[in-house]
Amino acid sequence: MADVAVIGAGFVGLSSAYWLLQDGHQVTLYDPAGAAGGASFGNAGTFANYACIPVNNPTVFRDLPHYLLSSTSPLRLRWGYLPQLAPWLLGFLRHSTAMRYTASATALATLLGRAQGGYTDLLQQADLQRFVRARECLYLYSSAATFEASRPSLELRTKLGVHSRILDRAEVQALEPALQPLFARGALFEGSWHLSDPAAFLQALQAWLVHKGLQVRVAQVQGIRPEADGVVLDTLEGKANNTARHGYVAVCAGAHSKALAAQCGDHVPLEAERGYHLMYPGAAPLVSRPVGWAERGFYMTPMARGLRVAGTVELAGLGPTKHQGLLDLLHFSARRALPALGEPTEPWLGFRPTLPDGLPVLGRSSASARVIYAFGHQHIGLTLGGLSGMVVADQVAGRASVLDLAPFAAQRFA
Ligand SMILES: Cc1cc2nc3c(=O)[nH]c(=O)nc-3n(C[C@H](O)[C@H](O)[C@H](O)COP(=O)(O)OP(=O)(O)OC[C@H]3O[C@@H](n4cnc5c(N)ncnc54)[C@H](O)[C@@H]3O)c2cc1C
Repeated sequence: MADVAVIGAGFVGLSSAYWLLQDGHQVTLYDPAGAAGGASFGNAGTFANYACIPVNNPTVFRDLPHYLLSSTSPLRLRWGYLPQLAPWLLGFLRHSTAMRYTASATALATLLGRAQGGYTDLLQQADLQRFVRARECLYLYSSAATFEASRPSLELRTKLGVHSRILDRAEVQALEPALQPLFARGALFEGSWHLSDPAAFLQALQAWLVHKGLQVRVAQVQGIRPEADGVVLDTLEGKANNTARHGYVAVCAGAHSKALAAQCGDHVPLEAERGYHLMYPGAAPLVSRPVGWAERGFYMTPMARGLRVAGTVELAGLGPTKHQGLLDLLHFSARRALPALGEPTEPWLGFRPTLPDGLPVLGRSSASARVIYAFGHQHIGLTLGGLSGMVVADQVAGRASVLDLAPFAAQRFA
């Protein structure tokens, strides 16, 4: 039995804590914000086992100017941030060639194909099935031309084992009658589901884990110092600076993992893809499932506390200032699809952790096998959290991983 610290209480960190406790370890969780204080709080809630197509793909070269200049584009770049963003952006473009894109999609499909296995036991053991809504996600295209343009990616998904059903305008309308008849085509993804409240799910998971022996420290980890027989953490707990020693440390700090990895010898080009949500209390019954709008880059998901409209991408670092234009775009677009929507509440900003090749970092640090990484899950961290937690537990146990971890090594950027 080992003494293991987990840094970060999002989908990845709490799932890691689950699998580590299942192995009988003593586990301490560090997070200054508590359970679901990061990107895991406000996502669209979809278990998107179909999302193997990374944002970086060959169409980026054709579409980027439009995405950067159109007023209805779901992608925005803060130009003043460009100098800091440049290395990531160049890496992103380098990974958008047909060959590298196919390699990333294949690696993501391998993860996604096993993602359900990361949650099956957890949902049962921790009594969390009550948050799961078994309604398949529907992805919609308002223009037939956009649908045709995305055919190659849909075909690649099929080749990589994703099962979907393509719907025409009438079938979309029959499935979701409250939607305006704006949508020419839809794709319904088999085996996908969603959560009724991602944050409540994680808070319930944390409470169950505490009952099973998890120690929780409301503390920020500021330093990681691997040593021969353990790892020392420097923490800020309230106003107190402390140190703690553990046998192993799992870095699951989402978009904030870059500085921690750098202390362990790995300079990873991690960036935040900032995303937003709005909540519409009382509007959840308008749709029966998560409904995505491809051209506008967002989902509308029925949740326990209302309809959540979540998505868009802003490249502007980790600062707290929200982009009102993107929040307006979400509201205006959601109302166009569902005119019955009232006024939104809770404008929320979250940071998706993204590497230039669209793949997460999973595996050991360069400085020490006692520091294990699980971060960089971009748009699919809810979906891949359970599996990533299994990988962390395998690494601590010294078990062969269920996956070939080579494509996900931090050292791929060295
Ligand atoms: C708008 C939007 C919609 C999305 N929709 C979906 C979806 O439908 N399906 C899906 O699968 N994914 C979705 N995602 C992506 C998903 O939310 C993220 O990939 C996922 O939440 C990442 O989880 P994480 O545990 O790695 O990071 P986080 O949830 O960000 O958790 C990291 C935690 O680490 C803590 N932390 C940071 N630094 C430190 C430190 N130094 N010491 C201690 N703790 C620290 C933070 O407080 C935070 O709680 C969406 C994201 C956004 C923004």
